[in-house]
Amino acid sequence: MSILVYAESWEGKFRKNTLEAISYAKKTSSLFQTDVKAVTCGIIDNNELERLGEFGANKVVSYPNIIKSDGKAVASILQQEVEESQLIIFSNTFNAKIIASRISSKLKAGLVTNVISYITNSSDICVKKQSFSSKAIETVRLKSKIGILSLSPNAFEIKNDSVDVVIEVKDQKIDSEIIILGKDINKGKISLSEAEIVVSAGRGLKAPENWGMVEELAEILGAATACSKPVSDIGWRPHSEHVGQTGKAIAPNLYIAIGISGAIQHLAGVNSSKVMVVINTDPEAPFFKAADYGIIGDAFEVVPKLIEEFKNLKDN
Ligand SMILES: Cc1cc2nc3c(=O)[nH]c(=O)nc-3n(C[C@H](O)[C@H](O)[C@H](O)COP(=O)(O)OP(=O)(O)OC[C@H]3O[C@@H](n4cnc5c(N)ncnc54)[C@H](O)[C@@H]3O)c2cc1C
Repeated sequence: MSILVYAESWEGKFRKNTLEAISYAKKTSSLFQTDVKAVTCGIIDNNELERLGEFGANKVVSYPNIIKSDGKAVASILQQEVEESQLIIFSNTFNAKIIASRISSKLKAGLVTNVISYITNSSDICVKKQSFSSKAIETVRLKSKIGILSLSPNAFEIKNDSVDVVIEVKDQKIDSEIIILGKDINKGKISLSEAEIVVSAGRGLKAPENWGMVEELAEILGAATACSKPVSDIGWRPHSEHVGQTGKAIAPNLYIAIGISGAIQHLAGVNSSKVMVVINTDPEAPFFKAADYGIIGDAFEVVPKLIEEFKNLKDN
């Protein structure tokens, strides 16, 4: 059994999710007494490629000419790099979902998404995965020769485990069926899917001009901002902030929900948060059942007080 990781990059850099996948692979490689090979697509400089060695990648194969958002092209590159009996590791990002399912069908490889546990027995490959919008945990056994695991973001630690790394750059090109015409990047903002803390708000805030306090609280905490679906549907906040069943699924260490009722479709995207704090005027709001901590109160009174307290804490 050998281990291959798809090392996804964003704007030429590897982010937290990718490092989690490399650390996961490194830990698993000791169980199987094998090496970790990472494959990456898109333009990434050598220092960044070498950085994967700090987390346990023995080899990094880079394809600078492959468009990383072309799932079909990336899947065929990974297929090329797969060996006879292999475990392929992804972080469960939007792109990975497309790529992993393509490879799974091409190679007749078992695919487990939203993985939240390590493999503990090399002769019986079983993992736990989140299912039913994180309301249940399933244990799944891999039977196929090639297995694919897509890891739930924020579920595994990043471990510095430096090894000597061999870098190989392959200038292969694949005629892409898509052309990227432009990119609209939220520069300077903390990425929602990677944030350790998320401050989120819903219709309870009444109007878009009331988001100042949400942004201020997020800034003090070093958090990303999110919102419920209706809030982005009516244009109070950008769609990129919408979390839930039809939006982004996130798993921060702390999720603060302000003026959000906690409908099942919203919870579907935030249930994996480690700690959830809810601020709502209605003690019967369903979110309180899912919350770890609840504040029954008016957001317009509670949030400014929280901001003041966090500022005091920081100043001292
Ligand atoms: C197919 C489908 C998919 C969906 N997907 C999603 C999804 O991905 N994400 C999502 O979020 N929703 C989704 N929804 C919508 C979901 O069902 C809810 O309607 C939505 O989450 C409600 O948003 P909300 O909590 O902001 O608003 P509301 O339900 O209007 O709740 C507002 C809350 O604010 C509280 N409040 C009011 N004033 C204050 C105040 N001053 N201070 C504090 N609290 C206050 C109220 O008590 C209330 O609980 C989906 C629905 C469907 C049918």
